[in-house]
Amino acid sequence: GSEPVIKALNREIKIKNLTKSISVVPTGCFGFCKMGPIVLVHPGQTFYCLVNEKDAEELVGEHFVKGQIVERLLYREGKDKKIFQHMKDIPFFQSQLRIALKNCGVINPEDIREYIANDGYFALYDVLHNKEPEQVIEIISNSGLRGRGGGGFPSGRKWQFTAQAEGQPKYVVCNADEGDPGAFMDRSILEGDPHSVIEAMAIAGYSIGANHGVIYIRAEYPIAIRRLEVALKQAREMGLLGEEIFDSDFTFDIELRLGAGAFVCGEETALLKSAMGERGEPRPRPPFPAVCGFRNKPTLLNNVETYANVPIILRKGWQWYASLGTEKSKGTKVFSIAGKINNTGLIEVPMGTTLRTIIYDIGGGVPGGKKFKAVQTGGPSGGVIPADLLDTPIDYESLTQVGSMMGSGGLIVMDETDCMVDIAKFYLEFSQDESCGKCTPCRVGTKRMLEIMERITEGKGEMEDLEELEELSKDIKEASLCGLGQTAPNPVLSTLRFFRDEYIAHVRDKQ
Ligand code: SF4
Repeated sequence: GSEPVIKALNREIKIKNLTKSISVVPTGCFGFCKMGPIVLVHPGQTFYCLVNEKDAEELVGEHFVKGQIVERLLYREGKDKKIFQHMKDIPFFQSQLRIALKNCGVINPEDIREYIANDGYFALYDVLHNKEPEQVIEIISNSGLRGRGGGGFPSGRKWQFTAQAEGQPKYVVCNADEGDPGAFMDRSILEGDPHSVIEAMAIAGYSIGANHGVIYIRAEYPIAIRRLEVALKQAREMGLLGEEIFDSDFTFDIELRLGAGAFVCGEETALLKSAMGERGEPRPRPPFPAVCGFRNKPTLLNNVETYANVPIILRKGWQWYASLGTEKSKGTKVFSIAGKINNTGLIEVPMGTTLRTIIYDIGGGVPGGKKFKAVQTGGPSGGVIPADLLDTPIDYESLTQVGSMMGSGGLIVMDETDCMVDIAKFYLEFSQDESCGKCTPCRVGTKRMLEIMERITEGKGEMEDLEELEELSKDIKEASLCGLGQTAPNPVLSTLRFFRDEYIAHVRDKQ
């Protein structure tokens, strides 16, 4: 709904002859989805929310002509409906630390000058003129950055493996094939700050000795694709991509490859095949992409959020980044919060922030005074975390310990009215549907599990079905070829662990 607002604001500004003193700048997402469209007025950071085109006349007339705040468009929260004028005071933003999202909602993503004015391409200039490739890799290693796509593999080590791999040419690939239900972190970064990813890929190319980059992005993200195309064109025009970047002898360019929306193409080997125009099916590893990847050459593959952290690490130093987060999980993580939560949206918090802080302080708790029941982390590959584990810090290790996983960062909140068996069935249905069918444990195993889940939810289940589910899960996890199959049983296993009584109730209902 923001485009009509932009048009209406521009019209009013023109009518009131203010075009020389006020400009309307379209930006990416602020993350506070529930309150959009948002208009942030600079200077002063006055935060107007739920703005529609009919508000434009009053906004311009009151705020810009008379200097009066339009109170009815300010954000209100709490039982007493406390009013907040400035963005920085709003609880939703207060516990956040925006690094990967730092430019989202701040700059016009279709104007490279705004990215540059916010220190953009400074890191690329600096590495090309002042740092050897090994030094850059050392900085990324020391920062403790780990892959944000789900696995959490140390990024520096991945860069080093690819740099050391034999064979030319080498490639830098970006995984922008975000496919979990309820996850939209990467889309938002690309829509709000595409140059951060482009700059990071060029830095990565310099570090590993690659001149060619590929962004593999799902075709269902048309705005992100358009903004990437604009950003790539502007970067080329300014000499920030192409030959002799910043008058160095480094050449680098990036092309886009569109995916057709298969979840399995988020798996690195399937992604690379699909990017090469082949059927997107995983293959056994080793060889890892660092040795044999795009066009069977050494390839560095990271996801959007991982890359978005790179330029700022180089600008501010690895010590700064390593001082954020927990001992083993450094920096911040972007999450999309959805489901039964007041403040749906996109947030970024330091690693180690508790789920309680995310759900209550930032998310504003559960709507309608209902009780929080559980949160699903890691999408269809993760698991549920119940209310008594709300103080679990969000980091790679802690989430694995409670039977879930970080995944790419989708958080879906459930309240007391949600049936956890239905939730597990929903995720299993998704994985079963998205299974590429290449290996039997995943193709057939998830189908058998789903049949059992359907029996249980239709009131036709037996107590033995619960053990059968656990056994099948074990086999599928152990024998599946790729991460999709290896993690597909997780939602069932974690709901069986924390909400077994609900499965038993379904079975007993039948009797
Ligand atoms: Fe395909 Fe599933 Fe096997 Fe992965 S585990 S290769 S998705 S059948």
